[in-house]
Amino acid sequence: MSQITDKLGRPLRDLRISVTDRCNFRCTYCMPRELFGPDHVFLPRSALLSYEELVRLAHAFVKLGVKKIRITGGEPLLRRDLPVLISKLTQEVGIEDISLTTNGVLLPRLAGQLKDAGLKRINVSLDSLDTDRFAAMNGQSSSPQKVIDGIDAAQSAGLSVKVNMVAKLGMNDCDILPMTEYFRERKITLRFIEFMDVGETNQWKLGEVVPAKQILDTIASRFSFKPVDPSYRGEVATRYRFDDTDCEFGIITSITNPFCGDCNRARISAEGDFYTCLFASSGISLKEKIRSGVSDDELLQFLSRIWLGRHDRYSEDRHKGVPAERKKKVEMSYIGG
Ligand code: SAM
Ligand code: SF4
Ligand code: SF4
Repeated sequence: MSQITDKLGRPLRDLRISVTDRCNFRCTYCMPRELFGPDHVFLPRSALLSYEELVRLAHAFVKLGVKKIRITGGEPLLRRDLPVLISKLTQEVGIEDISLTTNGVLLPRLAGQLKDAGLKRINVSLDSLDTDRFAAMNGQSSSPQKVIDGIDAAQSAGLSVKVNMVAKLGMNDCDILPMTEYFRERKITLRFIEFMDVGETNQWKLGEVVPAKQILDTIASRFSFKPVDPSYRGEVATRYRFDDTDCEFGIITSITNPFCGDCNRARISAEGDFYTCLFASSGISLKEKIRSGVSDDELLQFLSRIWLGRHDRYSEDRHKGVPAERKKKVEMSYIGG
């Protein structure tokens, strides 16, 4: 099937697969512990798509133009035998560009197996190098050293590492420079993410977003750098390279400079729902479809009809002040960022 485009002319290139809704952290901006406490009911294992089902879907998405797959969650490393899925995707589906986003604490145990399974790249989330601030942000008293150990393990295993930092005003904006210095020294790309209004539970306030401009000004107070051209259409981060060392950083400006115009990302939730936007209120059940005995051709037609009908541009509308329909948005931990 030839490359399909949605109603706004955007191709389908990037697929994000959430493999679990569970997490060993309770980040304030994603799964605040007051709302994801001990009584929170997670999906039972039978509700998750199996690896065979995910591989079948990945095959279909590749036929529709997908070139990149990112594995996410919840915390994807909590899903049992994750390296098995990675090796199926690299060997059976033939996806070259596969990456994973993780909070990193299980990497010392799993990095080698993930690399052997064919994973090349990994994004590790870390919001602060300060023990108290990091504990406050991850809601689980986990120390930054555990994440650094994960990063070290990933690098030792031969994985290419980038680091994600969500910046919240009054919380960890004071960490922008220390994080920049630390990862610049290690020649690891650090990507700042503006705090987003995903889901319904994270008490998002515009006043807690650290705008990209403030991040750039903070870094410019210490280092000089220049913008780098995007390496492909639809690249999520705006990139910059330091003048005096071969290292980059990036900013994901979903609030202050949204990039819906080039958004080529499809998402599958842990439960197997197809979402065409991170801010959607509902997805379309692929689990039901594939468990109903649909043929490969019918599955392709079904997926392509969804993409052809897509017209999402939530962040651009929010930026322009277009009133959003008041519907419940899906949680980040369910769909995976
Ligand atoms: N648990 C893994 C992790 O934290 O890397 C993967 C899933 S997490 C939902 C994916 C990414 O989304 C992480 O980098 C996380 O920091 C980011 N994220 C979660 N909630 C966010 C929010 N409200 N605004 C911006 N980024 C967010
Ligand atoms: Fe877990 Fe990642 Fe969400 Fe933090 S951002 S609670 S690590 S899923
Ligand atoms: Fe894509 Fe939706 Fe984000 Fe816009 S708001 S960039 S359409 S996921």
